[in-house]
Amino acid sequence: MKDPKQIIQLQKRFFETGKTRDINFIKAKLKRLKKSIINNEDAINLVLYKDLKKPKFEAYMSELGILISEINNVLKNLSKWSKPKKVRSSKLNFPSKDYIYYEPYGTVLVIAPWNYPFQLAIGPIITAIAAGNTVVLKPSEISSNTAEIIKKILSDIFEEEHVCVELGGVPETTALLKERWDYIFFTGSVAVGKIVAKAAAAHLTPVTLELGGKNPCIVDETADLKLTAKRLVWGKFLNAGQTCIAPDYVLAKNQIKSDLIKYLKLEILKAYGVNPEISPNYPRIINMQNLQRLKDMLNDAEILLGGNSNTKDNYLAPTLVNNPGLDSKIMAGEIFGPILPILNYDNEKDIKLIISSFEKPLGFYIFSKDKRFCNSIITKYRFGGGAINDTMIHFGNPRLPFGGVGESGIGAYHGQFGYETFTHKKGITMKANWLDIPLRYAPYKNKLKLLKKAFKWLG
Ligand code: NAD
Repeated sequence: MKDPKQIIQLQKRFFETGKTRDINFIKAKLKRLKKSIINNEDAINLVLYKDLKKPKFEAYMSELGILISEINNVLKNLSKWSKPKKVRSSKLNFPSKDYIYYEPYGTVLVIAPWNYPFQLAIGPIITAIAAGNTVVLKPSEISSNTAEIIKKILSDIFEEEHVCVELGGVPETTALLKERWDYIFFTGSVAVGKIVAKAAAAHLTPVTLELGGKNPCIVDETADLKLTAKRLVWGKFLNAGQTCIAPDYVLAKNQIKSDLIKYLKLEILKAYGVNPEISPNYPRIINMQNLQRLKDMLNDAEILLGGNSNTKDNYLAPTLVNNPGLDSKIMAGEIFGPILPILNYDNEKDIKLIISSFEKPLGFYIFSKDKRFCNSIITKYRFGGGAINDTMIHFGNPRLPFGGVGESGIGAYHGQFGYETFTHKKGITMKANWLDIPLRYAPYKNKLKLLKKAFKWLG
């Protein structure tokens, strides 16, 4: 790893030249990045296969395709986003014109996880550089093959004074976190998120924390159960459940629970066959340690389907679990693997009891045809984002903010929300000289009455 101090100095000097704010320069770099992702599709697929046995289809849908659409959205809108925005002025300041100026923070540190190792590393960089920052990226050491290709692709396009990739694990990240950054963007676990927030606090560095949580999925008696099961199986077992916004557990209305389980079993069979271990469509658990963590969860569980594993290649079958207690290992924290517990409820009080026993989740899903019920749930619970009658698809719309709340994160990104995340908004009032109302100036004498009237008149 390069000396973080040297890299920061180099990037600060480059930032001061103003080059990183040149829209044509940024757009040219983003176009090259897009071209490189397209040209390197096979090589990227190969490393994703090595790290996670990720099928090509999943790789395109959840990694490459997402990045290409993010770059397209930025290329289309960057000129508009970066222009100072005129806002209505305050009558108190008459005569004046008011604007919001967008200013890059400077040198940004991006720390990425291993589960979507390409997309979650490159994604934040797109809007960070679009906003005019320089970036140091630390990909996850656990998805080491993908980390290597990220370094190669980015160093072919960017000078290290603009975007630099630092490889390494905990010691290297710890060293990076000791330095003074202008912004830190972290994606990963709640535990490490707290370490990052603490390090950032030492320098009052602003942060975005994209964390995880226990995402509920409510299925009521009006839901189309066959379609619900299909979309649930897709959302839960994509990437073998190693997705921060995957449905973590299902809350099924009592009277439809057994039918839902029947359809879930059918959909798993349809998607991955009788033996998912030989299916080309089913990925693997990232490493032995995570496989063991997941297997431990099954020790005291009532398994409805799956549960079998193979330590040789970190395989864990798509697994359904019946009604684990809230104090069981499965319900103790985020599952982050292909285990789907199905709990049941009778009324909204039961739903509240279960959901409120966890921190605010990153994702939330409701399958129901009852619009009133859906709306009441959306407004009643606090969570990052979600979907009605589907799972995870809100992530794919660059016009929606993506981020958590409370323990599931701080801040949001994607598209314009990413651009705004990586910029400081400067409020500027441009005052005219042709009129100078004397009211505000001392000596105040008996002007207070007039001031109160003015405030009333101004509304
Ligand atoms: P992690 O927190 O273990 O690691 C993330 C990054 O932090 C890695 O680059 C790692 O090298 C670094 N790191 C690990 N331990 C560290 C330490 N002690 N000090 C400093 N740096 C350290 O997370 P992970 O296992 O890679 O990813 C899984 C977690 O990430 C899950 O909880 C998941 O929900 C969450 N996640 C969230 C999102 C999101 O967008 N909100 C996306 C993907 C994953």
